[in-house]
Amino acid sequence: DDPWQDEEYFGSYGTLRLHLEMLSDKSRTEAYRQVILSNSASLRNKVVMDLGCGTGIISLFCAQLAEPSLVYAVEASSMADYTRQLVKQNGCEEVVTVLQARAEEVELPEQVDVLVSEWMGNCLLFEFMVESVLQARDCWLREGGVMWPSSAALTLVPCQAHSYYEEKMAFWERPYGLDFTPLQPLAQQEFFTKPKFSHLIEPADCLATPSDVILLDMYTLQVKDLEEIKGQFHFCVDKPGSFHGFTAWFTVHFDSLETGGATVELNTGPHAEPTHWKQTLFMLDKPVSVCVGDSISGTIALHRNPIWRRHMTVSLDWNIHSSTEATENCKIGTKSFPMWR
Ligand code: SAH
Repeated sequence: DDPWQDEEYFGSYGTLRLHLEMLSDKSRTEAYRQVILSNSASLRNKVVMDLGCGTGIISLFCAQLAEPSLVYAVEASSMADYTRQLVKQNGCEEVVTVLQARAEEVELPEQVDVLVSEWMGNCLLFEFMVESVLQARDCWLREGGVMWPSSAALTLVPCQAHSYYEEKMAFWERPYGLDFTPLQPLAQQEFFTKPKFSHLIEPADCLATPSDVILLDMYTLQVKDLEEIKGQFHFCVDKPGSFHGFTAWFTVHFDSLETGGATVELNTGPHAEPTHWKQTLFMLDKPVSVCVGDSISGTIALHRNPIWRRHMTVSLDWNIHSSTEATENCKIGTKSFPMWR
């Protein structure tokens, strides 16, 4: 079997469902539009590659809001046929060239000045499209060329998740007046072993100030670095509550090409406009009560699956130091979450 599961992966991008979801995501799409718009002067006469152009939205923004000399819009899925039509329909065929190919195999007549892509997945790296972006960078980005996004961060916070815990675990305590607690180990296995994608956390559910745990520089990151990425955290609990788990999300930054120009940021966290990625929830097996002043420190590691290349396991290690109880009181925990293999 194909370790990249490309048939399934590109098959899903050959239909409209995902493109509709992405294009309906205003924060996401507007961030890319803003990048093009605020850099329009510098994009003049530049050659751009839009890696994984999908419906071609980013390439069309380039052609309509700036004056690049050429945009290579590379798309492996069968959507590329339609993208070609969309480019023509919008009068951009002089500037935008659609190439149906895997970026790893595409042949361009020249190097590019700008490599733009929307490659981010759940928990930033899931599906590992970023590998294709790094390979294209090494092949096709000219010396001194620009990467958009330019950097990425994964952010973590210890959180409450009362309603999810109620719905999946506390439910078994007394349904219809009966004791169903023998099903709780099964519930833990079934609902808390893997992370919960598409979780929307309220800022009020954060038990501490969120912290960046992983930072990726898109200019220097190497494909081999993706095998294992580690980070650390040290949170000070600033709100009493039930520590149900950790929530993760990402932010990406787009450097400005203009001198003194502002960086554009796409933040998928609970303090920003919600995006279609929402956030990713990692549930502990048992909630822990925490008080203001407690500290939660530990490490996070993203282990890429050695066989299934689009998958990874997120490992979390933590210890909780109580500020109120005896100094001996330190609870430790560890848990690994496959997503999905
Ligand atoms: N740029 C579009 C689509 C982003 S989704 C937008 O912003 O709306 C990512 C797209 O990249 C999908 O259409 C997927 O088929 C394509 N893609 C992923 N890996 C690729 C690769 N290695 N080569 C070419 N296209 C790829």
